[in-house]
Amino acid sequence: MTPKSFKLFKILGISIELDASWFIIFFFVVWTLSTSLYKLNLPGVTLNINIILSIVTAILFFSSVIFHELAHSVIAIKEGLNVKKIILFVFGGAALIDDEPKTPGAEFRISVLGPASSLFLALFFFIFSQMFENYQYLYIPGLFLFNINLILAFFNLIPGFPMDGGRIFRSFVWYISGNYLKSTKIAVTFGKIIADLSGLWLILIGLFLYQAADSSLKQAQIKLGY
Ligand SMILES: [Zn+2]
Repeated sequence: MTPKSFKLFKILGISIELDASWFIIFFFVVWTLSTSLYKLNLPGVTLNINIILSIVTAILFFSSVIFHELAHSVIAIKEGLNVKKIILFVFGGAALIDDEPKTPGAEFRISVLGPASSLFLALFFFIFSQMFENYQYLYIPGLFLFNINLILAFFNLIPGFPMDGGRIFRSFVWYISGNYLKSTKIAVTFGKIIADLSGLWLILIGLFLYQAADSSLKQAQIKLGY
């Protein structure tokens, strides 16, 4: 990673660190929460409360990311791997693990626990939001954290190596072929296809949105009599 990082604390012998680039995404998340989620859903709220809620929610969101990486790390340590640290940076979080898993089973267990832990958190925040349904200040953040953890779980399951889903995919190929190098090559190639497809998918969404915007513009023009 980049040389400048800040040590937060140590848990289970793993150092949790913030990369300098993380502050950009933290600010962006707080800003987005404040100007969209809380501004729209809590219209009567004061600016101070809005900002406090946004900061607390953002901290809980990044804590969820640390929880996800910790889940990977705990199993990695159990499988005899050396976890150097967990670092949050501008694109999310990463557990820096020294070496590769020794067996396909170990690879599968380490990879699957991350998304599983995010699903667990999603369930937790869903129950939390339902418990405080009548308290908007708890209900809205609870619902947001439910959604974001659900997204985190499924996004990571996309089989694009080296994401969790790609590693799970490699563990299957590795298990069947018995060949680590070959399975890595297949997973990387497959990951590239997924990346191309998601690029294509974004273009299609873009075209669809453009089309939708265009037709609503036409509708507006018809209404206005142009
Ligand atoms: Zn993960």
